[in-house]
Amino acid sequence: MSYRISDWKIIWVLGVGYSGFRLIREALRGHRGWGPAWRSPEPKARYDALIVGGGGHGLATAYYLAKNHGLTNIAVLEKGWIGGGNTGRNTTVIRSNYYYPESAALYDFSLKLYENLAQELNYNVMISQRGMITLAHSRHDLEGAHRWVGAMNANGVETRMLSVAEIKRRIPALDVSPTARYPVWGGFMQKRAGTGRHDAIAWGYARAADRLGVDIIQNCEVTGIDRGPDGAVTGVQTTRGAIATSKIGLAVSGRSTALAEMAGFRLPITTYALQAFVTEPLKPCLDVVVLSLSTGTYLSQSDKGGLVIGGGFDLYPSYAQRGNLPAARRVLAAVADQYPGFGRVRLLRQWAGAVDVVHDSSPILGTSPVEGLYLNCGWGTGGFKAIPVGGTTLAHHMATGRPHAVAAPFSLERFSTGALIDEAAASGIPH
Ligand SMILES: Cc1cc2nc3c(=O)[nH]c(=O)nc-3n(C[C@H](O)[C@H](O)[C@H](O)COP(=O)(O)OP(=O)(O)OC[C@H]3O[C@@H](n4cnc5c(N)ncnc54)[C@H](O)[C@@H]3O)c2cc1C
Repeated sequence: MSYRISDWKIIWVLGVGYSGFRLIREALRGHRGWGPAWRSPEPKARYDALIVGGGGHGLATAYYLAKNHGLTNIAVLEKGWIGGGNTGRNTTVIRSNYYYPESAALYDFSLKLYENLAQELNYNVMISQRGMITLAHSRHDLEGAHRWVGAMNANGVETRMLSVAEIKRRIPALDVSPTARYPVWGGFMQKRAGTGRHDAIAWGYARAADRLGVDIIQNCEVTGIDRGPDGAVTGVQTTRGAIATSKIGLAVSGRSTALAEMAGFRLPITTYALQAFVTEPLKPCLDVVVLSLSTGTYLSQSDKGGLVIGGGFDLYPSYAQRGNLPAARRVLAAVADQYPGFGRVRLLRQWAGAVDVVHDSSPILGTSPVEGLYLNCGWGTGGFKAIPVGGTTLAHHMATGRPHAVAAPFSLERFSTGALIDEAAASGIPH
């Protein structure tokens, strides 16, 4: 008897994959058939490649190394638990409405991968393309918005201007009256933007990478980077012993400068705390992501009903993953000013992550000054949306030795050539 590929697909979905059929089958037998989503292996003495950092970018890199390039003797080393860094702490906004063509190409590549990610990983990553509206609060904001919309459409990223009436219709809770503290002059919308479930994205990549043979090793902190007499990497020291390798990918957002220092070089990065907030659950009242240009505050409503709120980062450098009251007050006051009805809603939780901000507010992707050590860092406040592209491009560079076309402009060399991509100056806020 011979089997076709489609038969194996069906057998896999019924047996180990996730599907509606499997859910019913497990429900009928008391859910005794679900196994762990990934293994917990002991680290081996040597791997062909190591990824440091078990956030979305590290896990995606491992998955694409195995899937696209056939490299399976690889491990992800995570000092805590996977997704416990910024991947599990962010406000889950995905979008590609950037000003410069290089950024638009990078982030739109990512958005396209997100659009098909649930099928690719056989994991419900809950991508919701509910659209994102950026509000202009002054004549100056509005002029800028027109320029950005022109640039984004020229970059192939569809966005369109919205009138105040359209904005009010889409966001009934927003105060658009002329006497508002932040009057609304108009805005623009990217329809394909939205949100994704952050934990699910880490877990989906982890499960898929594990299925391809990748070792995911949690509670394993890298404490040193070993280099040979020629300066190239030879391995890492970890809290679970030394591991040899000739290729290391760093995807340790918030700690990139510390890891670079271990390898003996410095990065043009400053680390800040960035806070987020979630309120008690409300009935559905906001079906779009909204960003206010003047205040930097943005919010969306989660599937559980809570308002997920974010703002600009704290303006002093810190590695701390905790927020503070002055920054919280600033963000929450802006929300209460713009949405008077939300002023009475109670906060449920508040937290922070440490974000790596590059001096031109664009990521650093590619080789480092140390041979064998590759970089995926500097995503600042906006790297969640870039997880699929960050993983694809780092995997491509590590496997082939050449930069991926969409990542090439983001190399560290731009700080010596002067070809900076200053997105903070261009699109105002790098979320
Ligand atoms: C409050 C907040 C809101 C945000 N909102 C958004 C948003 O709406 N949209 C968006 O696109 N982006 C957003 N971001 C940014 C986004 O979360 C990050 O850019 C992205 O998650 C980075 O992913 P990562 O995999 O590089 O890092 P992480 O998820 O932080 O993973 C890095 C991992 O490296 C591990 N690590 C560190 N040092 C070591 C070591 N020595 N050894 C081993 N492991 C180590 C850490 O424990 C961590 O798990 C937000 C960030 C924050 C903090």
